[in-house]
Amino acid sequence: MTAIPTAGEAGRLTSPFGWEQHCCLPVQAEADIAPLRRYLDAGVSYLSVNVGFAPHDLDATMRVVSSWRRQIVLSSEPFTLVSAVEEMLAARQQGRLVVGFDLEDTNPLGGEIAMIQTYYDLGVRSMLMTYNTENLAGFGCHAPQDRGLTSFGRAVVEEMNRVGMVVDVSHCGYRTSMDALERTDSPAIFSHSNMRSVWDHERNIGDDQARACAATGGVIGINGVGIFLGDNDISVAAMARHIDYAVELVGPQHVGIGTDYVFDTNDLGLELANSQIFPASYRSGPQTDFFPPEQLAPLETELARRGYPADDIAAIMGGNFLRVAREVWKPPAGSR
Ligand SMILES: [Zn+2]
Repeated sequence: MTAIPTAGEAGRLTSPFGWEQHCCLPVQAEADIAPLRRYLDAGVSYLSVNVGFAPHDLDATMRVVSSWRRQIVLSSEPFTLVSAVEEMLAARQQGRLVVGFDLEDTNPLGGEIAMIQTYYDLGVRSMLMTYNTENLAGFGCHAPQDRGLTSFGRAVVEEMNRVGMVVDVSHCGYRTSMDALERTDSPAIFSHSNMRSVWDHERNIGDDQARACAATGGVIGINGVGIFLGDNDISVAAMARHIDYAVELVGPQHVGIGTDYVFDTNDLGLELANSQIFPASYRSGPQTDFFPPEQLAPLETELARRGYPADDIAAIMGGNFLRVAREVWKPPAGSR
């Protein structure tokens, strides 16, 4: 186990806007959101938290979203619910952490395209087509075959573009991801995906997938899961290796941070027992480690040590995802 430094020892991000595109609490209405504070202490201004994935239907997801929204509003911590980009910048000035949500599958829609607007209005700012396996929208990265985005998946992309929810193709199979990237009219993202040329894992993405994402104007969030970075390696150097490769491939304007930090690894163990969505390799070997928020400032320092200009570091640590939000997010229904 890597010792986790406190924020005081590790410092805070110095980039103007820190953005974490994906982290995970136990996806349960009763989960306590207070630990998200660690990101504020690490100098992050916007944090996207997962509110549902493949095992969660519409009912379960609505319970989680409703409970966490209420907790954010009532919290004694300086948390602010996501709304518009300008309000997010104002909240940052007040030293607050803006919390938004992401979905890691289209199953929480319950087959209803109309739920996309509802989730958006409740703070969900991005959604995956599918999670590891096959669903109504397409095929996952661990599915035995991939016939690409389905007609439902195409309708989902179209509605997400209309509503202003960011299309996310992490966890998707090759063809499904490429279909969605071709289909979208707005910048799309790999919220949390590493480079397969650096570490060969089915969950990581190929060079052409990264290029197709960048071509939409989108961003690839580098993932902090030990087994996707390398041999369960959550070092700053491992993160920097994937960033270096991605920057070389698609340019510094298309790389960001989506660490997938898991706050409760006991809960994760229970999720990984689900053989429908996780291959056996996820359950064998020692428990995987996760790159913690306290390592973001040391990562920023490491990028400077490697010779990255300050503007590029600022873009990678948050500016790029902020640009995508400016381009894609729209006002909620009823206020347009
Ligand atoms: Zn994920």
